[in-house]
Amino acid sequence: MSLTSGFEHIVRENEPLAAHTSLKLGGAAQYFAEPTSADELVALVKRCADDQIPVRLLGGGSNLLVRSEGVEGCVILLSAPEFSQIKVEGNTMTAGGGAKLSHFIATAAREGFSGPEQLVGIPGTVGGALHNNTGHHGVDFGSWVQSAKVLTRDGQIATRDSDALSFSYRQSSLTELVILEGKFTFDTEPADELTKRMQKLWIVRRAAQPESDENSAYMFKDHGGESASKLIADAGLSGESVGAVHVSDRDPNFFVANPGATSDQVLELMDKVRQQVAERLEIELQDAIQIW
Ligand SMILES: Cc1cc2nc3c(=O)[nH]c(=O)nc-3n(C[C@H](O)[C@H](O)[C@H](O)COP(=O)(O)OP(=O)(O)OC[C@H]3O[C@@H](n4cnc5c(N)ncnc54)[C@H](O)[C@@H]3O)c2cc1C
Repeated sequence: MSLTSGFEHIVRENEPLAAHTSLKLGGAAQYFAEPTSADELVALVKRCADDQIPVRLLGGGSNLLVRSEGVEGCVILLSAPEFSQIKVEGNTMTAGGGAKLSHFIATAAREGFSGPEQLVGIPGTVGGALHNNTGHHGVDFGSWVQSAKVLTRDGQIATRDSDALSFSYRQSSLTELVILEGKFTFDTEPADELTKRMQKLWIVRRAAQPESDENSAYMFKDHGGESASKLIADAGLSGESVGAVHVSDRDPNFFVANPGATSDQVLELMDKVRQQVAERLEIELQDAIQIW
């Protein structure tokens, strides 16, 4: 029986994923679901478990390369308002996994919560940032987490408290199927100071990353205290290209996909950069981007 039967209103077949990623590349998902409530999400995940259909969670697609052949099984997007709520109580903020990171950061600054303003300009969702422990210059998303609500692969909702969670460089122990919600606590600072700092950081970041109309992604992890950007530049690879994909001149740890680019070209350029950094600097770069 097809997954759509019983879930016609939320599941589509053969959905192109390119439009859902920042590289704007890649094939289709066999099934693509946008549940409108937690109950619907749980029912869908249980059905996939029963029918042995693999499930993946898509956030903002800003850290994903989808292969040209696409993905089998069901890709779930938390686009419904129920998954994007942000609530503030005292110095605690609760945010849905589908909430935009930009909304989270702006709300924190407005409420006088310090820290998130340092991540201004990073695209994606709260769920993706928790999964990846997204960060910049030593400020990591995981450092403000008090607890997280998750949905397991067999359809159980559970809460993970901070003492059961661990976050390290671009990694977190939140590997359950769905991160439904995070609860965060912060130090406080005057909101106007945070807003000013955020505006300055936004100007710096905008100049240091690809233009907003360029299709791009952040490719490799830093290595032993050296930024991947510096290592790629030191290996002489700024501006290197394969087909219609090139290493960004602004920051060589970004690849830019120009019109006509393919996922295979991105993979080939990743291999080329990895190999040449290994040959020239004797360093094995690890992928930051996730490949589906
Ligand atoms: C211009 C640009 C600048 C960037 N700058 C930085 C930077 O400075 N620092 C940095 O760390 N990263 C950076 N990134 C990478 C990226 O923005 C972050 O990693 C972001 O947090 C990914 O979130 P997302 O929602 O887009 O996740 P996606 O790319 O959609 O998914 C990434 C992973 O998270 C999982 N996931 C997503 N949502 C959920 C959920 N609700 N529940 C369970 N799993 C989930 C996915 O299954 C996938 O495995 C940048 C990317 C771009 C394009």
